[in-house]
Amino acid sequence: MTEPPGPEYVSPEGAPDPDRVVEAVRVLRAGGLVALPTETVYGLAADADNAAAVTRIFEAKGRPSGHPLIVHLRDAGALGGWATEVPNGAAQLAAAFWPGPLTVVLPKTARVLDVVTGGQPTVGLRVPAHPVALAVLRAFGGGLAAPSANRFQGVSPTTAAHVREELGAVVDLILDGGPCAVGVESTIIDFSAGLPRLLRPGGVALEAIEATLGHAVPIAVGAIRASGEHALHYAPSARVELCTGDPGELAEALRRRGDRVAVLSLPDDLASAARELYAQLRAVTADVVVAELPASSKGLGLALRDRLVRAAGPRTESLDANRATGEPAFALE
Ligand code: AMP
Ligand code: MG
Repeated sequence: MTEPPGPEYVSPEGAPDPDRVVEAVRVLRAGGLVALPTETVYGLAADADNAAAVTRIFEAKGRPSGHPLIVHLRDAGALGGWATEVPNGAAQLAAAFWPGPLTVVLPKTARVLDVVTGGQPTVGLRVPAHPVALAVLRAFGGGLAAPSANRFQGVSPTTAAHVREELGAVVDLILDGGPCAVGVESTIIDFSAGLPRLLRPGGVALEAIEATLGHAVPIAVGAIRASGEHALHYAPSARVELCTGDPGELAEALRRRGDRVAVLSLPDDLASAARELYAQLRAVTADVVVAELPASSKGLGLALRDRLVRAAGPRTESLDANRATGEPAFALE
């Protein structure tokens, strides 16, 4: 079955179409918003040096302004323009994992706008591994501030269709690079306070980072303003109930209470589970979805557990109100 190419069509293989890259750069230089594929999730990109453009990201997402954005760079050689100092450890991680799902937090240069960092003296930097994101970054030349292309606290998009459904009306251009290969956000390592620490588990396993650095890296999720700050995040419209072991029993108990219940069925293989997690959460139409936590926090298990716990986290009034009106929470949040 072949779908006719839409305006955001790139290519079936996700290879960059040169005309679309030129168009993206034109939109970015004019202060517009471009949704683009990365290997983690789809990002909502704006010129990181243009305060008005970056402000539009916050408006489009409904995201509070204090929540800092990651700046995407074309290669590690560009780090010097954005960070005053690159500690050895950060350089080692960049060499080992870039392009890839790793973000380093470093002390920022004067170039980095306050609107990007939420007024913090640090900046999150990463080089994404997707060919389309890299082609746009290389042609654009500068840095792209790009959070996930979803409404604040909602489920991150892993296909161009997800972005179109949720933010199609407010972005200037959507580039389609196929489904994201990793499926969860980048791992964030903070180097701004002496010894490195993990702010958010993600696509690069903590064990791989520790092996590269040659020492243990403490988990400091929620220590400063990173994704971990918000107890509820990555949340679908359905309520999420977690269990360890067989979800059937919990699902049955919930059904007896009259809830419409879905059961998340993620593959055992953690990489496949990460790739499918957000698409499955988005697809749920029941009142409640029961999800089994991965038994292990090793490798991608740490990021998967983090996302599931946050998806199940305490809900804001607006999310509950949205559920009452039957609207998808992430569309109104
Ligand atoms: P998102 O792109 O929506 O997945 O979110 C990016 C995450 O990176 C956010 O949770 C930010 O808080 C985090 N981040 C970006 N810059 C910094 C920084 N300077 N310090 C700490 N966390 C950061
Ligand atoms: Mg996000």
